[in-house]
Amino acid sequence: QSQELSHVRIDYHAALLALQEQGTRMVCTGKMHTDRICRFDYLCYCSEAEEFIFFHSNASVMLPNLGPRRFQPALLDLSSVEDHNTQYFNFLELPAAALKYMPKPVFVPDVTLILNRFNADNLMHIFHDDLLPIFYTMQQYTDLDDEARLVFMEGWGEGSHFDLYRLLSSKQPLLKEHLRNFGKLMCFTKSYVGLSKMTTWYQYGFVQPQGPKANILVSGNEIRQFASFIMDRLNITTKERPEGDDYIVVFSRTSNRLILNEAELLLSLAQEYKMRTVTVSLEEQTFASIVQLISAASMLVSMHGAQLITSMFLPRGAAVIELFPYAVNPEQYTPYKTLASLPGMDLQYIAWRNTIEENSVAYPDRPWDQGGITHLEKEEQERILASKEVQRHLCCRNPEWLFRIYQDTIVDIPSFLEVLRDGLKIKPNLKKSKPVSVVHPGRVRHPKCQTSVQAAHEAKLSVSWQIPWNLKYLKVREVKYEVWIQEQGENTYMPYILPQQNYTFSENIKPFTTYLVWVRCIFNKNLLGPFADVLICKT
Ligand code: UDP
Repeated sequence: QSQELSHVRIDYHAALLALQEQGTRMVCTGKMHTDRICRFDYLCYCSEAEEFIFFHSNASVMLPNLGPRRFQPALLDLSSVEDHNTQYFNFLELPAAALKYMPKPVFVPDVTLILNRFNADNLMHIFHDDLLPIFYTMQQYTDLDDEARLVFMEGWGEGSHFDLYRLLSSKQPLLKEHLRNFGKLMCFTKSYVGLSKMTTWYQYGFVQPQGPKANILVSGNEIRQFASFIMDRLNITTKERPEGDDYIVVFSRTSNRLILNEAELLLSLAQEYKMRTVTVSLEEQTFASIVQLISAASMLVSMHGAQLITSMFLPRGAAVIELFPYAVNPEQYTPYKTLASLPGMDLQYIAWRNTIEENSVAYPDRPWDQGGITHLEKEEQERILASKEVQRHLCCRNPEWLFRIYQDTIVDIPSFLEVLRDGLKIKPNLKKSKPVSVVHPGRVRHPKCQTSVQAAHEAKLSVSWQIPWNLKYLKVREVKYEVWIQEQGENTYMPYILPQQNYTFSENIKPFTTYLVWVRCIFNKNLLGPFADVLICKT
């Protein structure tokens, strides 16, 4: 049976005794509900009440012990989407003595990660909100290993790509609906609740219009390591292709948001880049075969949409071309642009938008969630039809946005090629694209200053330092130093960039004045090191 818990036998009586005597123990990380993950011993779940239960005993621990603040608004977010009021986690409390009157608990021996998937029918959401956060939450806690059990509490069925969730651990993930099969009361021996948000890069517009997260903490390195893990689990190996066997993948949608002149688009791409072209769609290929193709492609071309999340599998140096229907401004919908532009993703990104209304086919009569607008008042329908661009809006039911984004498009080939010629500064090329160094300089060592007064209005300030300690182990293309000089008490400073390790400043240096001097090292123009301790230099 697929929901069987484990072949490891646990000593039932010992477990029950431990639960009765020790109760539940919880220790969490995070200052706020939005950055909290909690680890529990003996967290229980009552399927009848659909509530998690914390059993109090003399030995139970609840850290943080928030009192009633636990409900303001919740202990933690169960999904990786920040502070969404349908994704909160809390538990109900009972004294351990109540166990005497309750159904006999079933114990889950596996180390369990309990979470909500955010939208298990959308490939972008699956990767961004679930798979990446699960993967890196598991990396954070070593007992969440390949034997860990995932439990999805959002309450949906498997969704359209459940196989992808199965790749994360060797055990079958459990859905909320499965939990009742284990009886009225189940207790997780060891569990973690919540997800790391460290890898997410996009916010969907619940409180402000959608856009990149304010403080992105993930780089292409972590995305690519996750992508290799997934490819590994899908048994995909990228073979070296012979020189000149470059190709372009066009990812098409077959049920809506269509490219109406796909054949023409493919032909123009093939002619422009002298490469072969391949079309894929989620309806016609397996996910693994699509990833296999994308992982060696030079370019991925697609309408805006969830399928573009597969650009994380492109090789370094490849190009992502995202097409937008009429009246949709690419600048306002950038989950894939943000992904492609993460430092270290090393992808080129270009957006093309249809500006020719006649090249667009809209579907006003469809249901509202596929962009239909006939349910709206006549005036509102007319306003939408006359509008040339959807204004910034919140998620998720803006009818004008849905109407426009679900249009089909005839791609105007001349304007498409023009955008590509302008945007692709270098021909997409994989073989030359090596990961660039991410090693930052250390602090410059032994910074010193010496001063001298030349005349009533002339003084000199010499600053010298030694190379950062890690430089002698590195091959760095360009090493430069930045010096900031600030007159004590002033709130501005003069910055200088220098190639050498000492310099004598005489311009703007006054006698009998105190200067504060900061020095740092810079590798390859943009890898900044930390400043050394400030020098206090009196002329
Ligand atoms: N989808 C697809 N083919 C289509 C339309 C949609 O494979 O013709 C997939 C799409 O990739 C996504 C899911 O169905 O995983 C939901 O699509 P929707 O249009 O709702 O979301 P979007 O792509 O705009 O994020």
